[in-house]
Amino acid sequence: MNESASNAPIYNQNNMYSEQMLDHFQNPRNAGEISNPDATAEVENPACGDILRLTLKVSDGHIVAARFKAKGCVASMACGSALTELVTGKSLREARTTQPEQVAAAVGGLPQASTHAAHLALDVLLAALKQIPASP
Ligand SMILES: [Zn+2]
Repeated sequence: MNESASNAPIYNQNNMYSEQMLDHFQNPRNAGEISNPDATAEVENPACGDILRLTLKVSDGHIVAARFKAKGCVASMACGSALTELVTGKSLREARTTQPEQVAAAVGGLPQASTHAAHLALDVLLAALKQIPASP
């Protein structure tokens, strides 16, 4: 605790973010875009202007790859990263039942002011899944 106090990043004043969230923010998983995705979605949160873009590759009814791009606050970038990890390997059916709480848990919990980030992640996921025909 004490050795990090002097060089605490300015975006983590008051330690409002968990270590998992900062890890996702600093080392985003699956950042970028799939070149010929099966689904693409982009959602903007009008409240704070965050934009989350998600591309998915689907094979045999399962999400085999997910990539995200995010513009916005630390929480939205972290939730985008966590979302890709959460859904990769899931069946479309499972992915459709993802809850914002799972995204929040994957980043170590969200401060009250940042819960919009988990909802944004869910919105973009559901928007992308809508483009994929329901599996037989
Ligand atoms: Zn935000």
